[in-house]
Amino acid sequence: MGGLASALALAKEGFNRIDVYEYASDLGFVGAGIQLAPNMARILDRLGVWEPIAKEATNIKDTSIRQGATNQELGHVELGYIEKTYGYPHMVGHRFSLANSMYEGCKKEKAITFYFNTKVESIDSFGPKPIITATPRDGSPPYKVEADVLLAADGIKSLIRVEMLKLLGVDAEITNTNQAAYRIMIHRDQIKDDPELLALLDSDTVTRWIGEKRHIIAYPVSNKTIYNLSTAQPDTNFAAAPSATYTTKGSKTAMLGVFDDFSPMIHRMLNYVPEGEVCEWKLRVHAPLPTWIYKTVALVGDACHPTLPHLAQGAAQAIEDGAVIAVVLSRLPDTSPESINKSLRVYEQVRKERAETLVELAAASGRTLHLGDGAAKEERDKQFAALKQGNGKVPDKWADADVQKNIYGFDCTKVTEDSFDEIFSSLSATNGPNTTNGTNGAAHA
Ligand SMILES: Cc1cc2nc3c(=O)[nH]c(=O)nc-3n(C[C@H](O)[C@H](O)[C@H](O)COP(=O)(O)OP(=O)(O)OC[C@H]3O[C@@H](n4cnc5c(N)ncnc54)[C@H](O)[C@@H]3O)c2cc1C
Repeated sequence: MGGLASALALAKEGFNRIDVYEYASDLGFVGAGIQLAPNMARILDRLGVWEPIAKEATNIKDTSIRQGATNQELGHVELGYIEKTYGYPHMVGHRFSLANSMYEGCKKEKAITFYFNTKVESIDSFGPKPIITATPRDGSPPYKVEADVLLAADGIKSLIRVEMLKLLGVDAEITNTNQAAYRIMIHRDQIKDDPELLALLDSDTVTRWIGEKRHIIAYPVSNKTIYNLSTAQPDTNFAAAPSATYTTKGSKTAMLGVFDDFSPMIHRMLNYVPEGEVCEWKLRVHAPLPTWIYKTVALVGDACHPTLPHLAQGAAQAIEDGAVIAVVLSRLPDTSPESINKSLRVYEQVRKERAETLVELAAASGRTLHLGDGAAKEERDKQFAALKQGNGKVPDKWADADVQKNIYGFDCTKVTEDSFDEIFSSLSATNGPNTTNGTNGAAHA
């Protein structure tokens, strides 16, 4: 997501040679839904790729937060106001539709070349001109690539982040959240004889069923042909068999067991999932990094701010990264490595605190949603009750208007355009980079 957005945004700014190296042989077809928040839509619209995504996405009108065990509604929030307030509705769609529309947009840009099926094997230099070794997976010999700027949008397991932290002498690791997620898609024909579930599929509602340490969030995608479910539960399977994998085929019996005490309707819903189509994801985050920038290399997306999905902002934040990077690089006064480094540090200044705040908020919202019996849960449920009377904050932070204001009301492109000169000149005045001895100001900050 971050790589596609960066490439497209840079091409739109007139950069004329953008090479994208991707391990996978194509975009893949990740069978999962994704929330398309207004801050993401705004950027994609400017990049000319929002329309096809919006066409098959669902325009969400409201959200219902329910007790998993009883299916009783705890809170209900109208979301129709979002479009009027932020210029774009809150939509939900298919992940492939999002990736594919950005990819189609990239393909129209002569400046962008994709190297699929190619692994970035190592980074040989972080600058002044970064050099990587790329290894085609078809057995062709590895080769070196030199660039003016290297953007590492290589996801939570980022190789470039690991190498960057080593050079900076920073001991920071991926953190276990002890949570895992099932991602499930139920097709219309599977539930055609189940009016209750068909009503959910035909709705414009995001529904969240919550219980102790677990929840399910669900919404219709792909022109309402698919009901998409994403869950969160204690990570027992990955924890029991630690390995490098983050995704695994899950067992349907185990999945039904996790939601054993949820309502019969939910059991019926989960039972529609065909055996063999249960996919489980390990949810991991990373401690905040001291910097995202080293020389002329920048980290992007999950490589530098992986998040729990409870605010539905991971991809949106990766796309914000791409939009901001395009602005800061388009404002370069010259193409010296020092200026590139400083511009990238403007990106870091605009993005880092915001992204890390949202990572923390997603974790906090998960803690609130997953409360077990006790005073804190009683307090939370009082808040839900007040909400039903039309007052107060929404304990599910994703649906809270003040949180939405901070997330959706922030136009990262405009903020960067407006603040670039000031931040750029403040960096040169106070902590200019020293790219010859392998450090930069941000790393010291
Ligand atoms: C259950 C769940 C639900 C979510 N729901 C939402 C949601 O509703 N809304 C939202 O905005 N976000 C959501 N997210 C988060 C979102 O999926 C991620 O934050 C987003 O995909 C991160 O994008 P990225 O580009 O940084 O990384 P990735 O999407 O992980 O992409 C990294 C890419 O780099 C490639 N790569 C890695 N290493 C190498 C290498 N050495 N050489 C070559 N290529 C390499 C990989 O193949 C991959 O294509 C959710 C996440 C989960 C787990």
